[in-house]
Amino acid sequence: MAGKHATILDTVGRTPVVKLSKFAPPGVHLFAKIEAFNPMGSVKDRLALGVIEAAERDGSLKPGQTVIEATSGNTGIGLAMVCAQKDYPLVVTMAESFSVERRKLMRFLGAKVVLTPASEKGTGMLAKAVELAEKHHWFLCRQFENEANPDYHSRTTAREILDDFAGERLDYWVTGFGTGGTLKGVGRVLRKERPETKIVVCEPDNAQILGSGVAQSRGADGSPAESHPYFRPHLMQGWTPDFIPKLTEDAVVAKLIDQILPINGNDALKCSRDLARREGIFVGISAGATLAGALKVCETAPPGSTVLAMLPDTGERYLSTQLFEDIAVHMTDEEIEISRSTPKYRFDASAPKPPRQEPDGQPSVTPEARKFVEETIANREQPVVMFSLEWCEFCGSVRKLFANLGVPYRSVDLDSVAYQRDNWGGQIRVALRSLIGSPTIPQVFVGGEYIGGCQETFDAFNGGRLRALMQQHGVPVSEAKELDAYSLLPTWLHPR
Ligand code: PMP
Repeated sequence: MAGKHATILDTVGRTPVVKLSKFAPPGVHLFAKIEAFNPMGSVKDRLALGVIEAAERDGSLKPGQTVIEATSGNTGIGLAMVCAQKDYPLVVTMAESFSVERRKLMRFLGAKVVLTPASEKGTGMLAKAVELAEKHHWFLCRQFENEANPDYHSRTTAREILDDFAGERLDYWVTGFGTGGTLKGVGRVLRKERPETKIVVCEPDNAQILGSGVAQSRGADGSPAESHPYFRPHLMQGWTPDFIPKLTEDAVVAKLIDQILPINGNDALKCSRDLARREGIFVGISAGATLAGALKVCETAPPGSTVLAMLPDTGERYLSTQLFEDIAVHMTDEEIEISRSTPKYRFDASAPKPPRQEPDGQPSVTPEARKFVEETIANREQPVVMFSLEWCEFCGSVRKLFANLGVPYRSVDLDSVAYQRDNWGGQIRVALRSLIGSPTIPQVFVGGEYIGGCQETFDAFNGGRLRALMQQHGVPVSEAKELDAYSLLPTWLHPR
């Protein structure tokens, strides 16, 4: 989205519609509205902004008041953005089974994430949010019942669709439901302004809570009294909670739904992958599921039909899920074959030796640097010393070990700004090398005794010598924990 904007919040919505020519049968025009273009990568940015601004307008949310919501993640991520920009603290309750990317994203944006047991499903995380809101007088968003949710979709998502298909056919609009905000908000506008458009709602084939026709029991405030009997755990995070939300039921009662389509989990995964590989469109599992539904619609749609599918979020939120299960971290056989097709830069062929340095080509040790190294190592006030590089990952791994042990240490970061003047860090490195004979960094000393580099330090820890030496020199070391120091290495170094 081009243009100047007062804040990031002005960039919510106005998502593009893209034609999927490779998927549709001849004569059918298939389009996708890609909600991943929202600033936090999902359709729920709309609801987050809509709910918060409505609450600001009606006074139910006070300046600086804490906001709380139960969410499968995308709402929390959208709220985290809105609350960060508008200076509201945010607490999110979420079942532990939703992808860990979601937790990290919310925390990165400054939110607190309170996990609830997976066994208690969506109703559990909802009940926890209510409990916390009552106890602490926080503002509860109530996305499953809050009319600001569909209202925002009526004002934005629906209008965008009307504009994009003005003067053209739009025969089918295909969506899933999480809260039903998209369904109710867009559905009612389409019904009124494009009555010929058929509204198709998808749900997991193993959790057909709408298709079952069995009513949802709920309390006076519209919240669910218990799990729906047809709910089963399914793959499409963000779709079909374990109850029929009030907003979704409203859409049923208003007869906004022309067809309910059950979607198979494997079809959803396949469609998400196919979108990435065949169209370069990178979206999540519920997007794949909606496309699977849209493709079913295309199979029977009369020639000349136009079908629009909603793709709710980006694929980046699913790296730890089944969607990426078959995606390799290490080189595949095919990639190894490509690597071996030329001689150099391979793991199975050793690298050429660097040219030998002549002794007179070596920089000489300066007396100042030698003195610095000797004094630093001998300093009894600071017995644990590491000569390191600021962002070297091996140095970082040793730092993690020390942090795990709660050990105070001195880190001489040779390439940091503090050591750059007159190549002071370089001089120290030369002096260190002449003392110990090893050119590598990091180098660790305890109580004046030379331990070695990262590997020797890890071996000394795993073997018990490091801890003993630290204790001998009066260094406080936290109680022994089960820890293999090598687990602290960067993941790319773990065995292939
Ligand atoms: N897909 C994903 C990934 C979602 O997070 C959500 C919302 N929870 C939806 C679809 C459904 O959107 P809505 O709440 O508007 O029904």
